[in-house]
Amino acid sequence: MTDLWYSEFHTDDVKFSIKVNRQLCSEQTPFQRIDFFESDTFGVFFTIDGLMMVTQKDEFAYHEMITHVPFAVNPDIRRVLIVGGGDGGTAREVCRYQTVEHIDLVDIDERVVRLCQKYLPQTACVLDKDPRLQMHFEDGLAFVRAAQAGSYDLILVDSTDPVGPGEGLFTTDFYTNCSRALGGNGILINQHESPFYTHYAHEMLRAHKKISDTFPIAQVYQFHMPTYPSGHWLFGFASKRFDPITDFRCEEWAALGLKTRYYNTALHRAAFALPTYVRELLEHGE
Ligand code: SAM
Repeated sequence: MTDLWYSEFHTDDVKFSIKVNRQLCSEQTPFQRIDFFESDTFGVFFTIDGLMMVTQKDEFAYHEMITHVPFAVNPDIRRVLIVGGGDGGTAREVCRYQTVEHIDLVDIDERVVRLCQKYLPQTACVLDKDPRLQMHFEDGLAFVRAAQAGSYDLILVDSTDPVGPGEGLFTTDFYTNCSRALGGNGILINQHESPFYTHYAHEMLRAHKKISDTFPIAQVYQFHMPTYPSGHWLFGFASKRFDPITDFRCEEWAALGLKTRYYNTALHRAAFALPTYVRELLEHGE
């Protein structure tokens, strides 16, 4: 019997592969192609247009780091907007905060949600279950354009890469509308790509420049994501008021007693300490 492998080119001459036990489904939607696979090491995982999105084994790193960093800076977050995130992992982490009153999740493609509910309940477990969470199946750019000024405390951009339907979420128009939709205490966390390979670093810098031009405070933090290109991934932290380190409410967050596998309060500070080459990229460009 021939082996079945999922492979993703991380550059023209570098590829990452996972041996697959079986393919669970493959679906072309009006927006993108979605594939689900099952493997020994990473469990169930899914890809969009051939690019890795979520695996059972390492999703905790991404979803904890996108969520707990902003909540540890502003424990009074009540109204949350998740743009993308149809797998539900980010929503699952946000729903752990009892103080959150309302969450809008806007994914352009309802099929991502429905397939994750079928094949990946580990991340989709709160979708259609938590009454605070309302799902909208439309373009995130149009949604934030139409949002009322000051209507959110936190916007989490949990999108695909800046190609295909995700492209509009990496524009100045989008970030400007996010800024308008956020109140004075608002925080934006952006899926910032990787600093390592040239192509990803280029996209990271483009996004960071636009966010820095839009928000008075714009910083970058890092985490380890084994299945993403190079394994070294970044989020952007942007705010009108809060600095992620000097405004960090370490004891208050610890007192919540939330059990996490990746995020912790020592790591919160450490994640903003960037390697020299990343600092130089951010300061001087490519
Ligand atoms: N953690 C993942 C990563 O960084 O690769 C992101 C996963 S999440 C599944 C990405 C979601 O963004 C997809 O479900 C996709 O449908 C959604 N998406 C892409 N473009 C969008 C847009 N313009 N508006 C709303 N959602 C969008």
